[in-house]
Amino acid sequence: MTATRIDGKAFAAKLRERVGASAAAFAEAAGRKPGLAVVLVGEDPASNVYVRSKGKATVAANMESFEHRLPADTSEADLLALVDQLNNDDAVDGILVQLPLPAHLDEQSIIASISPDKDVDGFHVINAGRLSVGQSGFVPCTPLGCMMLLADRLGDLSGLEAVVIGRSNIVGKPMAQLLLDANATVTIAHSRTKDLAGVVKRADIVVAAVGRPEMIGKDWLKDGATVIDVGINRLPPEPGADKGRLVGDVAFDEASEVAAAITPVPGGVGPMTIAVLLRNTLVAAHRNAGVAVPEGL
Ligand code: NAD
Repeated sequence: MTATRIDGKAFAAKLRERVGASAAAFAEAAGRKPGLAVVLVGEDPASNVYVRSKGKATVAANMESFEHRLPADTSEADLLALVDQLNNDDAVDGILVQLPLPAHLDEQSIIASISPDKDVDGFHVINAGRLSVGQSGFVPCTPLGCMMLLADRLGDLSGLEAVVIGRSNIVGKPMAQLLLDANATVTIAHSRTKDLAGVVKRADIVVAAVGRPEMIGKDWLKDGATVIDVGINRLPPEPGADKGRLVGDVAFDEASEVAAAITPVPGGVGPMTIAVLLRNTLVAAHRNAGVAVPEGL
């Protein structure tokens, strides 16, 4: 079998188009564009790139982007004051504080200070709670993007065996919750799981969110499994190159011999994250304006 390559990049581009059209319609009706505020503290180069690309994507989707860049030594009080200002700003529908924060800032208390109705990253405990009891809130962008790819590929997930490898608050746990809501039979595996390969072998759906390059080979996979690879790992550079290749947690080529469908890295889950962030911001704008959220997003 040669697996179908799940083209997250193309799926994300279509989602961004739908969001952009819907944002334009919202602006027409509401007299203002949906707005996303992104806060970056410090100069982390990777975060800098993410924030810049989020800003560009926001503008391209007919939304307002508000970027707040603060020095690395910003105090917790100053950061909380900025979040409070954004919570009370009617032009701002979504607030995202780029993680990781410098060590002297407590991420949990900063996230807790964001209004849950503007928490488009879905990291606030209120939104984690809403997800776990089946209320509508905001779901973290990466797992929601994975779910969209799975629903597109497989349709009804009822009764399928799903194994999520990784139990982070940002990916693994919300991913498992979403799969459970879709009536899959869900196992969460992690660094202490015994016989991980044996557990993964049972799965019709494998979601890998570990951060270990090409950990999952073809021997771990059931024939015909659908594999969603969230991992983003940079290999050491080849001699003469300044950067190593990006790979996922799954050995793509060999897994493709066994799986029915698989996301590549890059070009799979990665592009979905920003597209879903824009989608969540659009949803926030509709909720904040008290108007119905459009279908099909
Ligand atoms: P994390 O470090 O918070 O969590 C990793 C999880 O993997 C932990 O729960 C741990 O128990 C588990 N784990 C570690 N070693 C293991 C092992 N040997 N066997 C089984 N499980 C093991 O990471 P995260 O934030 O959840 O991210 C996971 C990966 O996904 C990273 O590579 C990250 O870069 C990537 N990621 C990608 C996107 C995207 O947009 N595509 C978004 C978020 C994270």
